Amino acid sequence: MPKTESAAWLQRDAAAVWHPFTQHSRWLDDEPTVVERAEGPWLYDIDGNRYLDGVSSLWVTTFGHGEPAINDAIREQLARLDHATFLGATHRPGIELAEELLSTAPTGGERALGKVFFAGDGSSAVEAALKMAYQYSVQTGRARPLFVRLAEAYHGDTLGSVSVGGIGLFHATYKPLLLKTVEAPSPAVFDRRTTDPATAAAEAAAGLESLMAEHGDEVCAIIVEPMVQAAAGILTYDASYLTAARALADRHGALLICDEVAVGVGRTGRMWASEHAGIVPDLLIAAKGLTAGYLPLSAVLATDEVYNAFLGAPAEARTFFHGHTYTANPLCAAAALANLRLMRERELVKRADELGVLLGERLAALTRHEAVTGIRRLGVMAAVDVADKGERAGVAVCKAAKRRGVWLRPLGNSVVLMPPLALRPEETDLLVGALDEAIAEVYA
Ligand code: PLP
Repeated sequence: MPKTESAAWLQRDAAAVWHPFTQHSRWLDDEPTVVERAEGPWLYDIDGNRYLDGVSSLWVTTFGHGEPAINDAIREQLARLDHATFLGATHRPGIELAEELLSTAPTGGERALGKVFFAGDGSSAVEAALKMAYQYSVQTGRARPLFVRLAEAYHGDTLGSVSVGGIGLFHATYKPLLLKTVEAPSPAVFDRRTTDPATAAAEAAAGLESLMAEHGDEVCAIIVEPMVQAAAGILTYDASYLTAARALADRHGALLICDEVAVGVGRTGRMWASEHAGIVPDLLIAAKGLTAGYLPLSAVLATDEVYNAFLGAPAEARTFFHGHTYTANPLCAAAALANLRLMRERELVKRADELGVLLGERLAALTRHEAVTGIRRLGVMAAVDVADKGERAGVAVCKAAKRRGVWLRPLGNSVVLMPPLALRPEETDLLVGALDEAIAEVYA
């Protein structure tokens, strides 16, 4: 197919489409890919070129594209029921998915996640969890209108989720519109004098403790991305912070919300990242990998204690007045159910843990480049920091990798690697090999 195919589509795109998180004054300069089809870990553009999907199509893919068992599950569901409202009705895939999700939920101590509320994507699940936490405070004693958020956090782009975000570039503009929050320090080794993760976590926990001492009575929830602040640049942190946050939430009668949108569903080598610390949150948010990347669906897992606070006679208005037209869409639920069952059958979480170790070994070789200033990884999520090189070093490296058949996306000067959890060893070599050559080219 001639190269002009993609150029023509990009002209039409530029004339009609407004893309997310995109500065359109330079959209075409960045040579966007016109994706035509995908198979396994491979994306094919409309000109017939193929690229290894090194970021799992924005961190969602588990098995890879076009997994026959998931395709079949969606097709079979389509033949039975395309959509039905979840208001006053229910359906098998929704029920079975809730059961399957709860069977995977983190356990430990007395707290147990016992109910599932469905939403459409990460942001809308965060939005639901924030409203639940506030309403829970109202219905269990006293309205607590304050949320504790972490510096460098990203929880989505709706107004509630922006309120609990901490990345200036994304969030500063909307400040006048937002919910009441207080910012706790990031637990990651980031802009700190220490390079020891345990020390960084302890310092941040001390910061959280003093914040809760001052504001605790007003706080309905502390929200964290467990183990990794993903959108901030895969900022990994020590599990001890989560243990401390759990204890502080309990001491002050606040809920702990674990946003597992990026880190959940096997991504960190555990089904849920909260498991690294052995904690159970009051609300756990899942999205992204939940449907293996096939269809949009997210979920908030809640403890029975939270759920029970919403029970009462209709006139008491304790109902959670929240939900969307496509809540628990059966096709999405069928995709998620097939994904979770397949993950269990094929022991994908264990394989992801092993893949993570291999990825870590391969990435370690990149330290030979002077331009590589840091590498962070947990499970199958990693970032390679490259030296500042005037503007957009990360973009330059990703472009060079793309010329070598590997598709990556940067976050500032960090190149993110989030391949499918089922990536094979030879594909892992290809992924890191292309990045290696790309860095060599850009910094030659
Ligand atoms: N929470 C976290 C931790 C995320 O990383 C993201 C997206 O990257 C979101 C929430 C928002 O999810 P979505 O983009 O599906 O709305």
